[in-house]
Amino acid sequence: MDSMAQAFVSERVVTPQGIRAAAVLEDEGRIRGLCSREEIPPDYAVLDFGDLAILPGLVDSHVHINEPGRTEWEGFWTATRAAAAGGYTTLIDMPLNCLPETTTVPALEAKREAAQGKCFVDWAAWGGVAGDNWEHIEPLARAGVKGFKCFLIYPGCKGFEMVTREQLERSLPHVARTGLPLLVHAELSGPIEDAAAALNGADGGADWRCYQTYLQSRPDEAELLAIGLLLGLCRKYQFRLHIVHLATALALRDLRAARREGLPVTVETCPHYLHFAAEEIADGSMLHKCAPPIRSRDNRERLWSAVWNKDIDLVATDHSPCPPQMKRQDIGHFDQAWGGIASLSVALSVIWTGLPARGLALGDVARLMAEKPAVLAGIDQRKGKIAPGFDADLVVFDPETEFEVTADHLHTRHRISPYVGERLLGRVVATYVRGREVFREGEFAPEPFGIEV
Ligand SMILES: [Zn+2]
Repeated sequence: MDSMAQAFVSERVVTPQGIRAAAVLEDEGRIRGLCSREEIPPDYAVLDFGDLAILPGLVDSHVHINEPGRTEWEGFWTATRAAAAGGYTTLIDMPLNCLPETTTVPALEAKREAAQGKCFVDWAAWGGVAGDNWEHIEPLARAGVKGFKCFLIYPGCKGFEMVTREQLERSLPHVARTGLPLLVHAELSGPIEDAAAALNGADGGADWRCYQTYLQSRPDEAELLAIGLLLGLCRKYQFRLHIVHLATALALRDLRAARREGLPVTVETCPHYLHFAAEEIADGSMLHKCAPPIRSRDNRERLWSAVWNKDIDLVATDHSPCPPQMKRQDIGHFDQAWGGIASLSVALSVIWTGLPARGLALGDVARLMAEKPAVLAGIDQRKGKIAPGFDADLVVFDPETEFEVTADHLHTRHRISPYVGERLLGRVVATYVRGREVFREGEFAPEPFGIEV
């Protein structure tokens, strides 16, 4: 049965040209055009959302789905449902925490196999630059990864290897030849080892139940040095450099200078760095552990300023769940817990809650969470905008309703997150992937129909 063409009508459609009353015309999964309510062709089914906003489906360029191999942490089924509930219509999966890691073409094929029939939203894969795998970089690009991820420090989990400077220099000419971006976890171990030695050498040793101890163990300096190193390599090899999860605002000056110089550098930060602040995190609150750490309130405001002035290009979740026992809430020592925050289902509300006070609006949400992540992943010919020719990926959003996050909102395999209990503004009402309803008012499509893009 052919599905009928549809018109998605709202007083507030968020387009690249601004917010306006319009009907978004969808046919066979694509946006055919926008028109006024009066101009809707007679053979279109009309879905009228009144004054609820219609945003482009969000694109999350930083998600750890963990399947195959660690599906007990998350998995395609649960991650993509959480995404749909959060207004995300495309996820780009990180190459680590799954087994095998996505560092070879056969591993990519294993991931594709694992994703079959389990995705409620569309997805794509990042490949890994890990250890000595440089000869796999160009084959992975030809096989369809959207870019590469590497770590300059131990990734926190066995399997995926970090790269030394030497290994990175060996890999970068290959990365540059693909034309794809290299996403880098930018922390260097030197300052972190020094900090740990100082903390553990203190009288009686540091108290690892204190959030301040964890914060001090991953100093700004680790990010600053890594970013300095990367900018030098970017200048030398002219590859597309993307800094993931920027946590320290102190690096913004160097990043701004590099962009002024013309280096191809982009930057992301995450909802947790824009929402939480170190001063407000209780000791023993393991759910707030992530790396780099959530820093001070003042730092948070500087990150917001950088979002406002576009020194930060995009917001990605770094959704990185784990089984509850790995958070070690029983012991409450920050040095023993898995670092990672689950936020796919609430990230849009988290960002929207913080935006108005910083002089930003719905159009900025579309830019930061849909358009720019799609550009990073090179899928911006079909994803990330409400515009003719694009996939009809749409999220219906109620910007005015407040709610308190409960475990029921999360939809992840393990319903734990530091956002539970937070009061947020703005609620996802419905999500459409290529014109098909995948989520509405807490209910999901009966069968997954997401594809690799
Ligand atoms: Zn990550």
